[in-house]
Amino acid sequence: MKIICIGRNYINHAKELNNEVPAEPVFFMKAETALLQKNQPFYYPEFTKDLHYEVELVVRINRVGKHIPKEFAHRYYSELALGVDFTARDVQKYAKEKGLPWEKAKAFDHSAPISKFFDKQELGNVANIEFGLRKNDAVVQKGNSGDMIFSIDHVISYVSKFVTLKIGDLIFTGTPEGVGPVAIGDELVGSLGDNDVLVIPIK
Ligand code: MG
Repeated sequence: MKIICIGRNYINHAKELNNEVPAEPVFFMKAETALLQKNQPFYYPEFTKDLHYEVELVVRINRVGKHIPKEFAHRYYSELALGVDFTARDVQKYAKEKGLPWEKAKAFDHSAPISKFFDKQELGNVANIEFGLRKNDAVVQKGNSGDMIFSIDHVISYVSKFVTLKIGDLIFTGTPEGVGPVAIGDELVGSLGDNDVLVIPIK
């Protein structure tokens, strides 16, 4: 199983980090050991002093595919979850400046907490899913899948040109604006539609 993450998929988030709005999707991967499930606590890693949350919609691939045409991409997933793409922003900033890969900043253990999965029928129109994140009860991020620069189907099609998608692979589809730091003792709560679906105590 692999975890593919899309970067810079919401215009206002690309701007808040002073990144160009990309002409094609940007993707990177996290290791399978990045997964954190069942609302387990996240332990703040020792190698960063600026750990950021990025709340994202997550798609679970349900068939094997390579070179998937965009118009058929909807057949390759039936479930979505809410996830957080934890990012060691200081480590990422250093890597960006030096032109180095992002794995140390993005792919570390438990950097990908996710909720349980929901059938996409349950969520209604996948191009209009509201989601958000609260930190200690204050809303910090609010997004809608309709604001993605590259739609879920576009992303699936694009990534599959390079990497064969397999059953159980996850795609983090990018974060809206409002990313920011967490500290030990904080609690993050993620929502999908009107429901709180993900709780992450930071320890
Ligand atoms: Mg992200």
